[in-house]
Formats: sequence, structure tokens, C-alpha cells
Amino acid sequence: MKRLAQTPNAMPGSGIREIANLAVTMPDVIRLEIGEPNFPTPRHIADGAARAVAEGFTKYTQSAGLLSLRTLIANRVSGTHSIDVTPDRVNVTVGGVQGVQDVAIALLDPGDEVLVPDPGWPNYEMAVRVHEGVPVRYPLSVEHGFVPRADDLERHVTARTKLLVLNSPGNPTGAVFPRRTVEDLVAFARRHDLYVLSDEVYGELIFDGEHVSPATFDPDRVVLVNSLSKTYAMTGWRIGYVIANDAISRVITKIQEPMISCVSGLVQKAAEVALTGPQDCVREMRDSYRSRRDAVVAVLKAHENYLYTPHGAFYIMVDIGRSGLGSREFALALLQEQQVAVAPGTAFGDAGRTFVRVSLATEQGPLIEGVTRLCRFVNMLRDRSEVAATRRQ
Ligand code: PLP
Repeated sequence: MKRLAQTPNAMPGSGIREIANLAVTMPDVIRLEIGEPNFPTPRHIADGAARAVAEGFTKYTQSAGLLSLRTLIANRVSGTHSIDVTPDRVNVTVGGVQGVQDVAIALLDPGDEVLVPDPGWPNYEMAVRVHEGVPVRYPLSVEHGFVPRADDLERHVTARTKLLVLNSPGNPTGAVFPRRTVEDLVAFARRHDLYVLSDEVYGELIFDGEHVSPATFDPDRVVLVNSLSKTYAMTGWRIGYVIANDAISRVITKIQEPMISCVSGLVQKAAEVALTGPQDCVREMRDSYRSRRDAVVAVLKAHENYLYTPHGAFYIMVDIGRSGLGSREFALALLQEQQVAVAPGTAFGDAGRTFVRVSLATEQGPLIEGVTRLCRFVNMLRDRSEVAATRRQ
């Protein structure tokens, strides 16, 4: 038989899945590798979906999404971002995952370069590669709180660079970009005539400070990707949206047809309930993540393993450099020997090689137990390698 398509075939699998697939085969594992809220979808949203079924929202909708939902999204983002968004600039997508794909399809020709954060959410690199673009990683360092600096980005720009990916609050770091940084990054994008993909799926999950979107400063250049997955604990519903300038939005609407036709109508109606209903559920979940963040930071400090404090999302990168193991090796050993599953930092790029990512989207009891075991394991491995080094001398 003829061979399969080369590009997707050559794409490496997810380094998080490797650990997750092993963890499900083992008893009593503390699961800190998964990036999804441990809360159920709020009742009133689920009820909204049931009502939508009863009311017959069980057919195709427009490819871009229901006008009623796009109007709600446009109004909300106009308010939160201080820009003028019209419903025809909104496309409803199958989560942020498909939103990122839409942007890659709409913007990239083969060989176009895309600046992707390192460490960063693995899907950016996959989406770029699958559409024959070239991901160029730009480093985020713990010394700068995992916040990008326009000066560092300059080194990675070429005549082929077309798109800059920004993600604040960030996965896997929890970094929140200050206003000044966002302004600098938009100026950088203008200077080099780059589009910006601003992934704001954690935009409502800020513990300290504010969420500042690059779209506020240049709504035509910035393509905003958002989702209801994290904000409303709706990961399995698969709904998000992309907001872009008129030309990009038209292309995205066109490609929705061969890709998905449309997002499920009843899920779109549930999203309307999420956006218009009571918002205390969002505040309550955010408060839980914040107190878990504080508790984890306290454990890290107590074990002298503290590096930085994440200000949003629900992740923290934990330093495992002193263990003497690589990040994947460490995650596998931690799972086998301590029954704690974490995501290896290298799943997010080379810059993650001395880290593992811990998800705060787990009940506080097991979370603290898991992080405590992790810290003790790092210290034990460090002591062991120090003893071995002394013996060798
Ligand atoms: N963007 C980031 C940074 C994420 O971490 C995720 C999910 O983990 C997504 C986008 C997409 O999520 P969804 O497709 O569920 O909206």
C-alpha cells in the first residue's frame, strides 16, 4: 500500500499522554498531570443543554455558530477588552484546540515561521507542523517569571516569520503578562508585521493582577482564541471561539465547513447559559485554585524547592534539576516509586527539561500529599547522587 502522509506521521506524540496512559493502569495514583478542572460543569449550564434538546436544538447551525451566541460573545469581549467586536468577527469552534487549528490554516503557507513559547502548550507546535509551518521556539525563563521579553524575541525573527503565539495566563507556567509587557509585545509584532495568536483560555483564572489582552492594543493584528473549557469546567463539551479581523474571520468561517460543519447546537445553547447565567461558579473555582496555589507554594518553600509563584491558570512548574534525572525519566520514576503522576517539562519544550508541571486542578488533600512526595523524592535523589559522587572521588 502507498505510504501515509509524512507530516502528521512524523509528529511526535504527547509527553503528557505517556504518563497519563501509564497512570490509569496503576492503583492509587495521585493524578497531577491532567490539565482540566476537577469540578463538575455547573448544574444550571447542564440544565441549559437539556432544555436545548427539548426545544429541538439538535440540527446543524451556521458554520460560524449561532448568531445569538456570537452576539453574546461579541458583546462580552467588546466590554472586557475595550474593543469593538461585531458578531461576524466571531467563529464558534470545537474548543480552543480547534481555534488554534483554524488560525494555523487561515494564516500559514508552507515554510512560514511561527514564534512559539518554550515551555508552551504542545498543541501550538503540533498545529503549526501539521499545516507545514515551521515552529521557532522562543525561551521563557524562570528568572523573568516565564514572561516573554520583546528583546529576546528579536533574535528569533526572520523574513519568514508570520505569527507570534502568546499565552497569558500561560500553560504550563501560570505566568500572567503585565500590561507593559503586552504593550511591548504588540509593538514588536507591529515592527515586524506579524500576526499575534493570543490564547486566552485561562483569562478568567487570574489570582493576582489583571488579564491584559494584546487584542486591546491592536484588534486587527491579534487573533484571539478562547474557550469555555477552563472557565466553566466544560472541557468535555468542546466549545470555544476565535475572534479575528474581517478577512481572517471570513476564511475561518469557510474552513469550518470541511472541518466540522458546525459546533453542536445544543452545546452552543449551553454556552449561552454559561455566558449569561450566574458567574459565582467561576469565582468559586478560581478561589479554590488560588488557595491550592498558596498551599503548594508553602510546601515547596518548606522543602527548599521554591522558584516562583504562578499568578494564574492552574499549573506550577516545579524544579527537579537537583534530582540528577531528566524530566521524563523523573516523571516515570516518580510514578513508579511514589505513585504520583506529573507532566514532564519536556512535553512543553526543551526549556522544560529541569521541571515537571503540577496541575492544581486536583482536590487540595491529594495535591498537597502528591507535591510533598515529589519534593521528598527530589531531595532523596539529590542526596543519593551526592553520596555516589563522594564515593567516586
Ligand atoms: N490553550 C491552552 C493553553 C490549553 O492549555 C488548552 C487545554 O489544555 C487549550 C488551549 C484548549 O482547550 P480546549 O480545546 O478544551 O478549549
